[in-house]
Amino acid sequence: TAKGTGRKRYHLYEASSRYDHVENFIHEIALSQAIDKNELYLHYQLIYNPASEMAIGAEALLRWHSENGGHKQPGDFIPIAEKTGLIVPIGYWVIRQACKDWHQLKAIYGPLFKISVNISRIQLNELNFVAQVLQILQEEGVNPTSMELEITESTTLHSLQEVQLILGKLRNAGFTVALDDFGTGYSSLSMLTQLPIDKLKIDRIFIADGNVPLIAAILAMAKALNLLVVAEGIETSDHFHMLADMQCWGIQGYYINKPMPYTELPTHHALVSR
Ligand code: C2E
Ligand code: MG
Ligand code: MG
Ligand code: MG
Repeated sequence: TAKGTGRKRYHLYEASSRYDHVENFIHEIALSQAIDKNELYLHYQLIYNPASEMAIGAEALLRWHSENGGHKQPGDFIPIAEKTGLIVPIGYWVIRQACKDWHQLKAIYGPLFKISVNISRIQLNELNFVAQVLQILQEEGVNPTSMELEITESTTLHSLQEVQLILGKLRNAGFTVALDDFGTGYSSLSMLTQLPIDKLKIDRIFIADGNVPLIAAILAMAKALNLLVVAEGIETSDHFHMLADMQCWGIQGYYINKPMPYTELPTHHALVSR
């Protein structure tokens, strides 16, 4: 009967929702122990400058090898980390580790090499965020001018004034700031002129779509606003030449390298053949 089916559905729904609950809870506990258990690590992707044929920086991408769940990608656990606030200590761990790795990377790529770190909206809300980050960099012997902070476009959707203030402080301290996933966050163009940022990272969806007129428009706009542009998601030789011909400043994607431990990154010698 219809009633029977309904009850059955209800039970199924309840069972699975309870299961999700428990699973999330287990995830949260495991994640809260991830730093102490040494389960977090960073992969890197080079940011390549076609004009000089050099890698000018690298983006740190967080990975989690959980004891029971195996290797996890940020999409699986960053939302949990943000919801629980764990992103705050995890974010400081990322910054410290990126500093340590930068010392190794600058020996390979030169002293102007920058390390990019993703920063979540929740981290920016921390009262002492700027002071804490500066403290970590000082302890690790890294100048803020060697670090770039990436914030996603959606970060700016809430309280533009607060975001302006904190980004202004970070830039005054010497960090560069990049707006990540540009073009996907529904932000207004007028907001763009009001944000203290240095760079736009064009979301990979526009590269995948091969939308040349739109990419050209973004590049022209960025030039007028005095912003550098990095194109994400460069997967093929065609993508690469499309962006290089358009004189895009920076290029990042599987075509340069998949995210990997910094010890395995291609050297300049290997990159010149692009
Ligand atoms: P994102 O900052 O936009 O990073 C780029 C994402 O695109 C990475 O996914 C990278 O692996 C992927 N990617 C790079 N090149 C290509 C390509 O050519 N093709 C395709 N299909 N994908 C490419 P990942 O590592 O899974 O990270 C996803 C997101 O998680 C990041 O997006 C970033 O928003 C966030 N995230 C990563 N690490 C951290 C972190 O330490 N802290 C915070 N708050 N967020 C992080
Ligand atoms: Mg990023
Ligand atoms: Mg991005
Ligand atoms: Mg992204």
